[in-house]
Amino acid sequence: MDNRSEALKKIKDEVIVLKDSPFYEDRVKNKYFPVIGEGSHTAQIMFVGEAPGETEAKTGRPFVGRAGKLLDKLLAEVGIERKDVYITNIVKDRPPGNRDPLPDEINLYAPFLDRQISIIKPKVIATLGRFSMQYVMNRYGLEWELAPIGSLHGKVFSAKGGPADETGKGFEFTFVPFYHPAAAIYNQQLLKTLEEDFKVLKTVL
Ligand code: URA
Repeated sequence: MDNRSEALKKIKDEVIVLKDSPFYEDRVKNKYFPVIGEGSHTAQIMFVGEAPGETEAKTGRPFVGRAGKLLDKLLAEVGIERKDVYITNIVKDRPPGNRDPLPDEINLYAPFLDRQISIIKPKVIATLGRFSMQYVMNRYGLEWELAPIGSLHGKVFSAKGGPADETGKGFEFTFVPFYHPAAAIYNQQLLKTLEEDFKVLKTVL
């Protein structure tokens, strides 16, 4: 296994035994899987969603339910193959009833996301929805730019001073927040906006 795959596997092993998580019992009871992430370990684009839904928890794969089908369509429309990107979430287990994750829950899982980011070092981090947008902006030096997602979606930011990696140097990446595809399932207007916003991915690679 190469270094990246090994480091990512280690994250998976740690999340599997994350008994501190308020979702752990639920996971065991429902025979759910944690959803760590999937895709290319050398991806140029990393998508960060919120938390797995039921289909994701049943399969252990991110964005494979209805929102995932829409994400697949959005990617196809801009000529990006799903296998070439890396897709993950901040929260790696399903919150009961798909409720919003609480700040403590985000804080518990966020270090795993930070490690995924420093292992893959994507050129572009694209968030899906406001929770991952807020987290990435606060964590990676864009806190002064924070605003409601309605005014930031589709905009491109340079994030400087990425997380310290194993060389201690950190790295830079382009940040683009998108609306969450789940919000566009029943909202044609939002779907149009998402489709329009996704076109930016062709310009930042
Ligand atoms: N919504 C998310 O935020 N993540 C998934 O993996 C699926 C739905």
